[in-house]
Amino acid sequence: MNFPGTVKSKLHKTGTTIFTIMSGLAQEHGAINLSQGFPDFPVSPELIRLYHEHMLAGHNQYAPMPGYRPLREALCNKIEKLYTATYDPDTEITITAGGTQAIYTAITSIIKEGDEVIVFEPAYDCYVPAIELNGGIPVQLQLKGPDFHIDWNEVKKMVNQRTRMIMINTPHNPTGSILTAKDMLQLEKITHNRDIVIVSDEVYEHIIYDGYEHQSVMRYPKLAERSFVVFSFGKTYHATGWKAGYCMAPANLMAEFRKAHQFTVFSVNTPLQYALADYMNSTPSYESVSAFYQKKRDLFLKLTKKSRFKPLACSGSYFQLFDYSVISQEKDTDFAVRLTKEFGVASIPVSVFYKNPVDHKILRFCFAKEDETLEKAAAKLCQI
Ligand code: GLN
Repeated sequence: MNFPGTVKSKLHKTGTTIFTIMSGLAQEHGAINLSQGFPDFPVSPELIRLYHEHMLAGHNQYAPMPGYRPLREALCNKIEKLYTATYDPDTEITITAGGTQAIYTAITSIIKEGDEVIVFEPAYDCYVPAIELNGGIPVQLQLKGPDFHIDWNEVKKMVNQRTRMIMINTPHNPTGSILTAKDMLQLEKITHNRDIVIVSDEVYEHIIYDGYEHQSVMRYPKLAERSFVVFSFGKTYHATGWKAGYCMAPANLMAEFRKAHQFTVFSVNTPLQYALADYMNSTPSYESVSAFYQKKRDLFLKLTKKSRFKPLACSGSYFQLFDYSVISQEKDTDFAVRLTKEFGVASIPVSVFYKNPVDHKILRFCFAKEDETLEKAAAKLCQI
């Protein structure tokens, strides 16, 4: 069936997300799926028990629109401890249906027709469509390789009267790079005395390696006062399918966020919020996540050392980039498909995260997997 009239797409350049495409292809060909980022190991049985317990206890009706109060409190306490930032649980935090929704709602609540939004490429794929759906104009600047850092001089040149928002992401998906204290100070300088809002995607805050400290915008009061900061329970608690996250921002920004949130999502899964609050208050729940994933990263690097895939630096997130240019000169999109179909390992081609595809011959592999899965995948990669 089709609508008989004309459909004027609001997103005529946008197709199906690469994560859905590559996971579908992996399934179709029985390949090991290191494409879409999600763990293949179980969630804490204690967290599942709490979730179940709260369902049985009858906590099954709407949660308050901004989220279950004790969960908001637990999160504000955590942020205070980690980043010495004070957020009011009543007015400065909202529980969301995952990071993607938080990002979309933050953009929607601020961006109007013609507003410019600076994004850095390769950019996680939900940013640009969210800007465009709101009539905003994405201004794409490229991260500079091989370490994918921001060229702040370029940012300075692009900022003008129409710049309404800058989006940052650390640890960064898809590259695994991180922002440093110096980056944050540059951002502080550039946004000083300007009407620029920051969206800081920090969903991988607890997945950072080699002793680096996560540079949340919250550590910088001058940045925090102009930022929506987006976090994810799915990444930290290995439960991406629960689609739960949260957004924190100063009260006047959060008030706008909630105006949009209440009419798109209204409120988020109640028993899950009870369970998360209990879990956070009773169990050390995030302290060991970085060490856990660093072991996985190191194992994956060791297992692939003899392959012809050349790893790039990964300081955070659960993604490892590999340069395959020694193996093939095929486009990364083609090579990723062939790797899935012929060699049984699915990955993500990085060029899709650019407005005008830049093909560095790099693929992204997710190592949030059982050691056994990584061993099997690495064995295949070593044969290519
Ligand atoms: N964040 C996940 C990744 O980068 C994908 C989430 C999704 O499929 N929307 O792979």
